[in-house]
Amino acid sequence: MPESTPVAQERRLVTELPGPRSAELMQRKHSAVAPGVGTTMPVFAARAGGGIVVDVDGNHLIDLGSGIAVTTVGNSAPRVVEAVREQAGAFTHTCFMVTPYEGYVAVAEALNRLTPGDHEKRTALFNSGAEAVENAVKIARSYTRKQAVVVFDHAYHGRTNLTMAMTAKNMPYKHGFGPFAGEVYRAPLSYPFRDDKSVDGQAAARRALDVVDKQVGAESLAALVIEPIQGEGGFIEPAPGFLPALAEWCRANGVVFVADEVQTGFARTGDLFACDREGVVPDLTVTAKGIAGGLPLSAVTGRAGIMSAPHVGGLGGTYGGNPLACAAALAAIETIESDGLVARARGIERLMLDRLRRIQADDDRVGDVRGRGAMIAVELVRPRSTEPDPALAREVATAAHQQGVITLTCGTYGNVLRFLPPLTISDALLAEGLDVVAAALGSTR
Ligand SMILES: *Cc1c(COP(=O)(O)O)cnc(C)c1O
Repeated sequence: MPESTPVAQERRLVTELPGPRSAELMQRKHSAVAPGVGTTMPVFAARAGGGIVVDVDGNHLIDLGSGIAVTTVGNSAPRVVEAVREQAGAFTHTCFMVTPYEGYVAVAEALNRLTPGDHEKRTALFNSGAEAVENAVKIARSYTRKQAVVVFDHAYHGRTNLTMAMTAKNMPYKHGFGPFAGEVYRAPLSYPFRDDKSVDGQAAARRALDVVDKQVGAESLAALVIEPIQGEGGFIEPAPGFLPALAEWCRANGVVFVADEVQTGFARTGDLFACDREGVVPDLTVTAKGIAGGLPLSAVTGRAGIMSAPHVGGLGGTYGGNPLACAAALAAIETIESDGLVARARGIERLMLDRLRRIQADDDRVGDVRGRGAMIAVELVRPRSTEPDPALAREVATAAHQQGVITLTCGTYGNVLRFLPPLTISDALLAEGLDVVAAALGSTR
């Protein structure tokens, strides 16, 4: 198939899954790749675009995962491809810390403009979400000259040593990998589906801050780090008022408020950033995943005074803000702005919530349907209870995979089906993908 032929926007299965080419590649994977690196599906990708991933056997799969919230502007998005191609022909790397280049500065300017708050900001670029979270903590410690970090139940911040300590879930992220970094404390979250109905956002914030006061104390606390909507932890959207109350407490107590927008950022939630919904202005905003159309890039953006605390040379890395990734990020941002993708995410939200709520009305194992924009989840439980049913989530996901729909699971209890379609998916494909999920759920009765 010539490279320029667009990927046909239809689900089409031409073999059993996995097909023979994928099965052969999976054998090679088993012999060559460390088994600790698992895969959700047993098929290998060949091409992708719009709302479709094509595997090496020619099967066309509906993409409800975006490579875990990364290809928000679509796979091989035209502006991204063009920008990377042009940059690759000019130069691929010099190291910004050796001979700097304009792309890095332009990405920093864009992030300073787009992230919540219109105060003066500075940005530093890195490679992965975890690396950016680590750097946000370094910057907060350097600025406050304090050490402790507060994170939340169900949090996910990455797989490096410090971010493993910050991540809540043992299996698979931490098990056997300790000892972990110290001075990390965990506070209770607002989790409307599981909280008592009397616990509104304000009450949940008081509950969390009480734990922080008792176990850490603001005078030792450098940063409070929170995902405005939790990702791996189960797409948990805190009750209204929770985030503003935490941000206000941080401001009053000399604690740096860090929003980990790695999964929620760049139009994913129907706002450019999830913090925008309640007008929360973080001191530092951490971004990655959706930032660069699939190229590895991450950033810490925040108040100029805080960002300027570390000494010259204290921040950086060989590849941080790689020129190809910067070119891709500028193209991805232009795509979000020019193609109205924030509004598109809200359209996807309406379609998904409507369909999933109709499924919920007919199925008492669907405990909760929640989320914003193109970040929507279904929490599966034992009928008419809140008792998690991870086996059901696995079964439904596997059945959907067999029918050519890429879906992911998440949640501390592993009982959440999550949907993260690229914003370039058509309504028709999205509806068909959800039909397949509904049928998969129905088949488990
Ligand atoms: C994925 C994720 C990370 C880690 O990002 P990597 O690029 O995988 O290191 C951190 N925080 C959140 C909220 C994430 O979803």
